[in-house]
Amino acid sequence: MFKIIEKMELKSINKVISNGYCLGCGLCHAIEKNTEIVEKNGNLVSNYSKKDRGHIAVCPGAGYDIVDFGKRIHFAKNYSYELGWYNELNLVQSLDATLLKKASSGGAMTTISLFMLEKGYADGVICTKYTYDSPTPRPTTYIARNKEELIEAQGSKYCPTSTLSILSQLKTEEKYVLIGTPCQIAGWRKYQEVLNPSINIVLTLANFCGGYRDFREIDHFVHNVAKFDGVRYFQHRGDGVPGLMKIVNNSGREWKYPYPKYAQLSPIQKNNRCVYCIDATGELADISCGDAWIKRITDTGEAWSTIILRNKRAQKLFSEMLEAKLFNIGKITENEVVESQRLNITSKKYRQYKRIKIKKILLQRVPDWYDGIKNVGGFYVDECKILLSKFVHSKLSILYKR
Ligand SMILES: Cc1cc2nc3c(=O)[nH]c(=O)nc-3n(C[C@H](O)[C@H](O)[C@H](O)COP(=O)(O)OP(=O)(O)OC[C@H]3O[C@@H](n4cnc5c(N)ncnc54)[C@H](O)[C@@H]3O)c2cc1C
Repeated sequence: MFKIIEKMELKSINKVISNGYCLGCGLCHAIEKNTEIVEKNGNLVSNYSKKDRGHIAVCPGAGYDIVDFGKRIHFAKNYSYELGWYNELNLVQSLDATLLKKASSGGAMTTISLFMLEKGYADGVICTKYTYDSPTPRPTTYIARNKEELIEAQGSKYCPTSTLSILSQLKTEEKYVLIGTPCQIAGWRKYQEVLNPSINIVLTLANFCGGYRDFREIDHFVHNVAKFDGVRYFQHRGDGVPGLMKIVNNSGREWKYPYPKYAQLSPIQKNNRCVYCIDATGELADISCGDAWIKRITDTGEAWSTIILRNKRAQKLFSEMLEAKLFNIGKITENEVVESQRLNITSKKYRQYKRIKIKKILLQRVPDWYDGIKNVGGFYVDECKILLSKFVHSKLSILYKR
């Protein structure tokens, strides 16, 4: 029995890739520059195929010790199963109208990043924008060094991004802010702890994350829904709350649809690795930012961000920003944050134990969350349905290839 369980572990980077858990985060490229992150069936995947050279020790796709790692990094006073370790919760709204316009939520991530640049606390911000060299948009990670470059990156990219590939281009003498998804921030933390690279990331910002769908969704919207060939602009959301998906073709024609309703027009399912993720709010980041989906806020029609300050460094920075009058600020309780993320947290925290248990019963490999998952909800029959639908979808996915 022990041997079977051992065989089921994700013990090498090749096992992560072959089991569909590679996130294309870019760490394989950071470790060996000649490893490429390539697009495969709409996802970003490492093309590393040699013997594991310590890759697995830093790979976020394989899972991470989310509770103990968070405890070690943050020394925080509060712990919640849903939100991880933290010191403080707040609602914020950027007081910079230009930043608020293209923001997904209350512009928290971009306002914090700009403050870091303007104060000289960082030389560059690692962020991600859409570029239009392919027939349909694809995300490109770059280093923003001023306000204009930060604005170009605004808006959520609900698709794969290879944020950590850029680590191979960073200068040892410079300081950076890293903006990424929870798994990318976790990948950076593992990489930093295990390989101790000469890279100076002074602040990590994670978005809350309910997962994403692969590039075939963007292609579907561009070609099949908007019926455009070439595209010069794409956004998943922006222009107010909750915002719009907007696609502009090469001759300036626009197609728009409200967020999150557009998801109903998509046949593409959530990325495979996201289905087995338990990191709903970026538990290893210094600061985590998300939407404030609670009635008393959505009723105002205004854009606000929920932010989680996880450690003292984050709190110090935040109080400097309040002194500089960069944010409107409001109160939010732990229960309200959890309630505002109900869908995300139900899937990632409450139902995950049973989902992963079924995979294990079927002798399939899963990411390792150490002791981080609690058996607190869900039904085995529902999880069986999810797994079956994923299986059928993977067999049908050929239909979505263009
Ligand atoms: C895949 C995904 C899933 C999400 N799921 C949820 C959810 O379930 N619940 C919730 O409340 N919020 C979720 N969010 C977060 C939310 O959509 C906003 O990104 C967040 O509130 C920050 O908004 P803002 O106005 O502070 O930032 P903005 O001013 O809009 O700036 C956003 C910054 O994030 C960077 N960024 C955007 N997408 C990516 C990406 N995929 N990879 C790396 N960097 C990126 C941009 O480059 C930019 O610098 C999700 C975001 C993503 C990317």
